[in-house]
Amino acid sequence: MGGDAGISESRARLLAILETAVDAIVTIEESGVIESVNPAAERMFGYAREELVGRNVSMLMPSPWREEHDHHIQRYLSTGEARIIGIGREVEAQRKDGTVFPADIAVSEVRLPARRLFTGIIRDLTERREMEVRARLRLESAAHTARLLELGEMCSGIVHEVNQPLTAIVSFAEACLRAVRGGGAEPALLEDALGRVAEQGIHAAEIVSRLRGLVRKEESRREVIDLGDVIAETLQLVDHERRRRSIGVTVRCETGLPAVNADRVQIEQILLNLLRNAFHAVEDTECPRVWMQADRSGTDRVRLVVEDSGPGLTPEQCERVFETFYTTKPNGLGVGLAISRSIAESHNGRLWAESQRGRGARFALELPRPPCDSHPRSPSHGKRES
Ligand code: ADP
Repeated sequence: MGGDAGISESRARLLAILETAVDAIVTIEESGVIESVNPAAERMFGYAREELVGRNVSMLMPSPWREEHDHHIQRYLSTGEARIIGIGREVEAQRKDGTVFPADIAVSEVRLPARRLFTGIIRDLTERREMEVRARLRLESAAHTARLLELGEMCSGIVHEVNQPLTAIVSFAEACLRAVRGGGAEPALLEDALGRVAEQGIHAAEIVSRLRGLVRKEESRREVIDLGDVIAETLQLVDHERRRRSIGVTVRCETGLPAVNADRVQIEQILLNLLRNAFHAVEDTECPRVWMQADRSGTDRVRLVVEDSGPGLTPEQCERVFETFYTTKPNGLGVGLAISRSIAESHNGRLWAESQRGRGARFALELPRPPCDSHPRSPSHGKRES
């Protein structure tokens, strides 16, 4: 008798757990027919218990899974090959009103003497997904603001950079005009001057289009990008600052470096931030130098390092520099590195700083490379100095 009491007590306890669980718990028979559901399942799917029990569980899934589910159970029963049982995974589920929502499902098998049951514990991921989207939008918006601030600071240099080709265009065009008006317009001379006009025009247009990319606010977009190209483009944007401060920059790009799947503008933003910080760090030093290196890291990552000959960082600073609003500059905002790290993490990558005793700061960005590397870098990118 004591055994019966024990069983009914544990049954009562189990029922209490099922009744109060936040996750939906659905038990089905081998045929796929629902045997029991808990209140959370009723709430999650919008059906009453009577509408569910005795019907095929596929009613809780959208097409095409709805049509395939019986087949999956049959395959499992005949081959024992589990695609979801004991593994758990993310699926799409469908409510009574037809809305589809992301869910996490863990299925386990219960073998009874005469039959088998399957129990599915389902968690609604809608809220988590929404939070992830909100976090992504917040990051995008913060990153955009930080880019505008950075560009604002660079404004005079950028104006100069665009002005240079424009000035060149005007002087070549005036030389052509003079030659034509004076009647001494040699075709070869005109051809050469007009060629330069076109070249300088293209150069100015390139700078403007690069800026437009950084100014524009777009949804984060992943594409296969070549880090060598990103380095070259970012260097162009800060070239005026580099020359003004007489900073030597060395770039070393590993031959055949794999491409990465990333948001080009955001990776340029990280690099821009690292480079400009490095420029600030070295500007009052005797022999200002910055080194950039892109290479493989392990089998599945690509690493980009920016190193400088400045005063460097203490071990404590190596973490603090990534805190929001940490700055040691009189007009600094202290958001650049915090945002850069968030961007790196949103790419499943890492950004960190290393202190090197008696040497300058070293910042490293590591990004995962796509599983299938179909865009190897051309061997033409070797060492470059400016
Ligand atoms: P900000 O440049 O506005 O200060 P950041 O987040 O980009 O904001 O940088 C935070 C701080 O990190 C800087 O103020 C500086 O103290 C430190 N820092 C960043 N890069 C370097 C570097 N290369 N060398 C030394 N200190 C650096």
